[in-house]
Amino acid sequence: MKEDLYAQVILDLVSDAVDKPFQYFIPEELRDQVEIGTRVLVPFRSKKINAYIVAMDREPVVKNTREIINVVENNPILLQEFVELSYWVSRRFFSRWIEAIHLCLPPGDGSSKTKYVDYIMPLVQPRIMIEESENIKKKALRQALILEHLAVADEKGLSWEELKKKTGAGRQSLLSLREKGFLKIQQVPHNRVSLEESACCGINMNLKFSVQQQKVWEEIKKGFSSPEKQFLLYGITGSGKTELYLRAAEEVLKEGRTALFLVPEIALTPQIVEQFSGRFAGKFALLHSSLSQGERYDQWLKVKNGEALVVLGARSSVFAPLKNIGLIVMDEEHENTYKQDDSPRYHTRDVAKWRAAYHDAVLLMGSATPSLESYLETRNKKVKLLQLTERPGGRHLPKVQVVDMRREFKNRNKGIFSHTLWKAINETLSRDEQVILFLNRRGFSSFQLCRQCGCVVQCPSCSVSLTYHSFPEHLQCHYCGYRRTTFDSCPNCKSLSIRSFGLGTQKVEKEVKSIFPTAGVIRMDSDALTGKGAYLKVLSAFKEKKASILIGTQMVAKGFDFPGVTLVGVIAADTSLHLPDFRAGERTFQLLSQVAGRAGRGEQEGRVIIQTFTPWHYSIKAAASHDYLSFIEEELNRRKQLLYPPFSEILLFNCSSPHQSKAKESAEKFKSLLMERLLPLNVSADEILGPSPAPLEKVKDRFRYHILYKGAHLERNFKVIRELLHTFRREIKGDVRVTVDFNPLMML
Ligand code: ADP
Ligand code: ZN
Ligand code: ZN
Repeated sequence: MKEDLYAQVILDLVSDAVDKPFQYFIPEELRDQVEIGTRVLVPFRSKKINAYIVAMDREPVVKNTREIINVVENNPILLQEFVELSYWVSRRFFSRWIEAIHLCLPPGDGSSKTKYVDYIMPLVQPRIMIEESENIKKKALRQALILEHLAVADEKGLSWEELKKKTGAGRQSLLSLREKGFLKIQQVPHNRVSLEESACCGINMNLKFSVQQQKVWEEIKKGFSSPEKQFLLYGITGSGKTELYLRAAEEVLKEGRTALFLVPEIALTPQIVEQFSGRFAGKFALLHSSLSQGERYDQWLKVKNGEALVVLGARSSVFAPLKNIGLIVMDEEHENTYKQDDSPRYHTRDVAKWRAAYHDAVLLMGSATPSLESYLETRNKKVKLLQLTERPGGRHLPKVQVVDMRREFKNRNKGIFSHTLWKAINETLSRDEQVILFLNRRGFSSFQLCRQCGCVVQCPSCSVSLTYHSFPEHLQCHYCGYRRTTFDSCPNCKSLSIRSFGLGTQKVEKEVKSIFPTAGVIRMDSDALTGKGAYLKVLSAFKEKKASILIGTQMVAKGFDFPGVTLVGVIAADTSLHLPDFRAGERTFQLLSQVAGRAGRGEQEGRVIIQTFTPWHYSIKAAASHDYLSFIEEELNRRKQLLYPPFSEILLFNCSSPHQSKAKESAEKFKSLLMERLLPLNVSADEILGPSPAPLEKVKDRFRYHILYKGAHLERNFKVIRELLHTFRREIKGDVRVTVDFNPLMML
C-alpha cells in the first residue's frame, strides 16, 4: 500500500497561466498504477485533459483537491530522469515546463502502428533478368528497367518505393513481371527494412588505428573509469574520428551500457548511418525525421524497452529514452543545427552534458573546427582536448589559394570571377572533372564595402558590421541601435569605390551559365530546393556527373564526398564575414574549412580558390592554411576584449508585433522593467543593450526589436526575469510577443 495520496501534475496545456504543478487526489483504485512520470487524465476547469505526474505528496497543499480520473498508460511515459531534465531545460531556456516535457515524449505520441511496405525479391538469376530486359526493352521499357535494377540488387531485393522512383514504373509493370515468374512481392515491416538493410558487412571492422588514433583511444578509454569524462576531439576532416566513435560505442556495449550518438543532420551523414547500422545490427535505433510518425514511434519504443542500445539521431534524439548511458558522442559539435530555434530553445550540447553527468557517462564531442565555447573549456580543464592532426594513409588536405579581389577591381575586372578562378574552372572542365562554387549564405544582408581597400564599415562600439538599409538609405548597428548615414567615400582610404554589397546564388548561377554555356550547372540552396528528398536528388545527380558545376550555399559544405570534384571556388568569402553577428568570423572560418574539405576526396589532388576583398582577415588566412589553432587564439582574444561569449553569456529578448510602433514601444517598456528589476541585483546598466531593430527587422509580417542582456552568470537572475516575463506577457495589450533566447547562436 502506497502512502502518497496526492500527485502533482503538469497539465498538457501550453500556457503561462498553467505553467506550474497542480495537485490532484489519487483515488484508492488508481494508487498502484501511478508513479512519477505517469500520464494521467485529470479534470481541469470544465474539461478533461492529460497531465504528467512530476511529484507525489502525502498531504494536500490546497483545499478541495480534485481527483485524477484515470491513467492513460500503465507504465510511466516519462522516466524519472526526464521529469528532472525537462524541468531543468524549461528553466535554463525559458520555456514552459510542458514544452520541455513534449521533447521527452515519443514522436507522434501514441500513434503506434507498424507500417508494412512492399519489397520486391528477384526469383531468377541476374543474367536471365538482364537478357529478358534486353528483349523487352522496345515493347515494355518500364518492365525492362525494373529487371535491370533488380539484377544488380542483392538477394534481399529492393523496396517498391525505391524501385518506383528509380524506374518510373507503375504497379501494372510489376504485376506483369510477377505473372511471368521473375519476381515476388513481399510485405516487410518498414522499420526493419530501412535500418537493417545495410546490416551486412560491419564496414572497416578491423581497421588498425594509426599512431595518433591509438593515442586518442587510450585517453578515451581512461575516461570510462575516471571522473574526467568530457572530451573534445579536434580532428581535421578525414582524420578518422568516426572510427573512434564506433570503437567507443562498442566498448560501452561490452560493459552492458548504452550509447547515444548525435549528428547535426541525418540526411547529410548517410555514411555514418551505414556504419552504425552495420556494426550495431539488431541493437540499433535511428531516430530520424524522415521516418513516418509510426515508424519513429516504433524506434522510440525499441529504445525505451531496452531493445535498442545504440541510438543515432539529430538534435531531438538527445532526449532518447536510453537507460544506463555509458557514452554520448556529439559529432560536428560546432554546428548551429544543434540549437533549436523554437521554444524550448535548447542547445543539444547543454542537454548532452546534463545527461552525461546524470549517467556518469563519457561525453565525446568531435569536430574539425570546434566551437569557441568547447575549446575554451579545454583550457579551463573542464574538458580534455584530444587531437588528430593527420589523415590516416598519408592523404593530404587540399591546397588553398586566396585571391585578392581588390587587385581584380584595380585591373578593371568587375565581374564575379577573378582571372585565377575563371582559368581554373576552364582547366577543370576540360579535364572532365567537377567544380563546386560556394557562396557563403543567401545574401539577404548587405553592408558597405570598399573595393579599393576591402574595408567594411563597422559599429564604433560593437565591432560588428553596420547593416546597409536602402529605404531610407542608412547604416545601422543591430546590437546597440547606432545609426548613421551611408558613406560616399571610404572612411579608411577615402576612395570613392565604396558600395553596398550582397550577392545571391541566383545571380552567380546566371553569370556562370553565360560564361560557361556548355557546362551543366546545378544550383543548390534552400530557395531552389523545396520538398523532401529534393536535396538528396540534387546531390546524387551531381555525384553521377550529370552536371559539372554545383553552385550552392552552406548546404554543399557538409559531410558529402564527391570524388569527382577537384576544384572548389569560394565566390565571395566576405558575405558571411560581415554579417552583423559577433560569430561572423568563427562561422566564416568553419564554413571555409569545411568547404575546402570537399575538394580532392578522390584519386586526384584537390584545389581550393577563395576570392575575397579581405585577404588579410584572420579567419580567411587561417582557413586557407588549415590552421585552426591560430584562428582560435585570435578569435578568443577578440571575444575576450569585447566580453562576447564564451567569455560572457547572452540573453536575447525579442519583442515583435505586426505594428512597428507597438513592437518598439513594448521593447522599450520591457527594457525599463528589466532595468528596474536587475539594477538592484548588481547588474550594471551597460549590460543591458537596446532595444534596437533586429537585423531581420520584419519576419512573417511582424516587426522585431531586440534587447540584449550580456554578462557573467546570468542564470542567477533567471528566476526574476522569468517572473517579469510572465507578468509582462499577461499585461501587455495587443498582439505583442516576447521571446527569450539564452546564448543564441544567431543574433539576426
Ligand atoms: P572524419 O570523421 O574524421 O572526417 P572519417 O572517420 O570519415 O574521418 O575517416 C576518413 C577515412 O579514413 C575513412 O574512409 C576511414 O575509413 C579511413 N580511416 C579511418 N581510420 C583509419 C585507419 N586507422 N587506417 C586507415 N584508414 C582509416
Ligand atoms: Zn577603402
Ligand atoms: Zn553597435
